[in-house]
Amino acid sequence: MSEPLLEIKDLCVEFGSLKNPVRVLDHVNLHLAPGEILGIVGESGCGKSMTSLAVLRLIPSPPGRITKGTISLEGKNLLDLSEEQMQDVRGNDIAMIFQEPMTALNPVFTIGQQIIETIIRHERISAKQARLKAIDLIASVYMPEPERRLDQYPHELSGGMRQRAMIAMALACHPKVLIADEPTTALDVTVQAQIFDLLSELREKFNTAIILITHNMGAVAELADRVMVMYAGRKIEEGTVDRVLLEPLHPYTQGLLDCVL
Ligand code: ADP
Ligand code: MG
Repeated sequence: MSEPLLEIKDLCVEFGSLKNPVRVLDHVNLHLAPGEILGIVGESGCGKSMTSLAVLRLIPSPPGRITKGTISLEGKNLLDLSEEQMQDVRGNDIAMIFQEPMTALNPVFTIGQQIIETIIRHERISAKQARLKAIDLIASVYMPEPERRLDQYPHELSGGMRQRAMIAMALACHPKVLIADEPTTALDVTVQAQIFDLLSELREKFNTAIILITHNMGAVAELADRVMVMYAGRKIEEGTVDRVLLEPLHPYTQGLLDCVL
């Protein structure tokens, strides 16, 4: 097998005091190839978001800390990088979208200002060219009237449109890995389906590898290549979607499937 794009080995994260630590991630292992979609499922509080925050080195510290393990992007351990180098990784290689786009979009700047600034940070092109690119990008996430969107503020958009704007922002930096942490939880069912379609299209178009954290088993079945099940900070099962969904090895996975099927 070729070297994975992203590989987490034995990751442990603890919260609380040094004397009385609470382990929220316990020897988590994960790997992701270019263009692959990995689903992560498990009940609330099992460590899904903590895993994604650890990859971006965004665990609030204190009170949290990574106590063990490695997180390698193309063979380089992100835990060895300086904060400045890490900012580069966040801006260029790994993007994250999450449940509430309002927290990622800056409320005082228009969608256009935010996307154009991101494009200019990544490509040495003029503001005029960046504007045209931003319109293309907004159109590519199926926001109607893309040109008009440039002048809108985040609060003027519906939840679904905000989520699309956040995906457009994430795409502006051509990430190798996109972490989508419950990207559709706040959206109604039709819009959810559109966002999932969009993620699948991203993989087709740009070979973006995606970590898809969701409670939507249907979406996992449709989109993901592999799925990993977490429970109480641990990975308890992992395999191809067919294997895990049709023949779960762990009773907890069976329980999880019984709840939704
Ligand atoms: P998930 O995304 O799977 O719902 P999280 O990764 O957000 O779960 O949380 C994993 C665990 O970490 C939970 O048990 C949660 O209570 C704990 N946790 C999260 N943030 C903090 C914090 N600031 N202090 C202490 N524990 C925390
Ligand atoms: Mg979460």
